[in-house]
Amino acid sequence: MNDDEKWRDKLTAEEYKICREKATEAPFTGEFWDKTDEGLYSCKCCGEILFSSAGKYDSGCGWPSFFQSLDDSKIRTEIDNSLSRTRIEIMCDHCGSHLGHVFDDGPAITGKRFCVNSASLNFIEKSEKES
Ligand SMILES: [Zn+2]
Repeated sequence: MNDDEKWRDKLTAEEYKICREKATEAPFTGEFWDKTDEGLYSCKCCGEILFSSAGKYDSGCGWPSFFQSLDDSKIRTEIDNSLSRTRIEIMCDHCGSHLGHVFDDGPAITGKRFCVNSASLNFIEKSEKES
């Protein structure tokens, strides 16, 4: 099984389009955009833990938004000139899965808004033991 077949097997059709073909889910439709539970967000494809609920905020944009990642070395960035504007694409550094984009209009603490597709993430609820 080559890589592409592996992803097609592991992901739903929509997840495949977003994670592997860089599509964007419609705003206010994903699983996590308004989630406020405490926990961690990992890469849908490889399970690498990328974001924490502690860095999540409500940006009003309809996608899960974070003002910081857990570890910027786990987030790969690339200039994206599609849709006739320049944006900075963010990907999982470990497996190259598309996550979303990062913008400079975040809250003052970092000034960043990591705008991520719900379909690119899994949520790991904080367990009683850790608290
Ligand atoms: Zn990954």
